[in-house]
Amino acid sequence: MDYPGNLFVVAAPSGAGKSSLVKSLLELDSHLVVSVSHTTRKPRGQEQDGREYHFINEKSFRQMVADGEFFEWAEVHGNLYGTSRGEVQKRIASGQDVVLEIDWQGAVQIKKLFPTAVLIFILPPSYEELAQRLNRRGEDQPEVIAQRLANARHEVAQARHFDFVIINALFETAVFDLKTVVHSQRLKYAAQLRSKPAVFQALDLS
Ligand code: GDP
Ligand code: ADP
Ligand code: 5GP
Repeated sequence: MDYPGNLFVVAAPSGAGKSSLVKSLLELDSHLVVSVSHTTRKPRGQEQDGREYHFINEKSFRQMVADGEFFEWAEVHGNLYGTSRGEVQKRIASGQDVVLEIDWQGAVQIKKLFPTAVLIFILPPSYEELAQRLNRRGEDQPEVIAQRLANARHEVAQARHFDFVIINALFETAVFDLKTVVHSQRLKYAAQLRSKPAVFQALDLS
């Protein structure tokens, strides 16, 4: 499937800083929108239905799977997560750039559907720092944090399959790196042709 909008997929082990980085990126770039996933996980303290996630029960989630409503879905840390087609397809078809904050299994599925999707993996500087961030965030029960840390080793091993790897040591540097990846995608020939058709016409290029 080929659409005029760019699709960016950001994955990371829990606590690496993915949500914080994407939030900052969106504040800097008004042409980007983030897709709100569906999940069976319970909302954390400040999370609002329809903002961080569409929170649904497992029965509704399974029904959406059966109805083919997801581009991709996966079980992550014991919960189900999925990207619904509707929102994303409409946006990239109209030329908007969309960011998906999903796990590596979902990223692999998306790359098969959209070979031009740009896959970005966020790494923490160390497992010790990852543990500290999860604890400092203070949003998950200790056993949930332990499970996420245990899963992190397998998740970081998937980074090799991604197009770009960003190490989130100093936050501002990582935001800059993420911005650079998005920007470089927009400088590709096909993207420039789409966004500046008049220039290409004036130069007799197409
Ligand atoms: P979530 O609630 O788990 O999705 O986490 P958020 O992505 O909302 O991050 C929590 C808060 O920490 C937000 O207000 C971020 O802007 C802030 N934050 C994240 N990383 C840094 C950092 O490196 N430095 C500072 N000063 N603030 C940060
Ligand atoms: P994820 O979405 O990957 O689970 P978050 O964005 O929620 O991760 O970040 C996890 C915690 O780490 C948050 O409390 C966030 O404020 C913090 N954090 C993110 N990036 C950095 C960084 N570069 N340095 C220190 N703390 C960070
Ligand atoms: P959290 O519970 O911390 O918000 O997310 C846990 C994991 O699920 C993260 O790795 C996150 O990227 C992933 N995730 C969130 N939404 C989706 C989605 O729609 N699809 C897939 N495959 N993974 C998701």
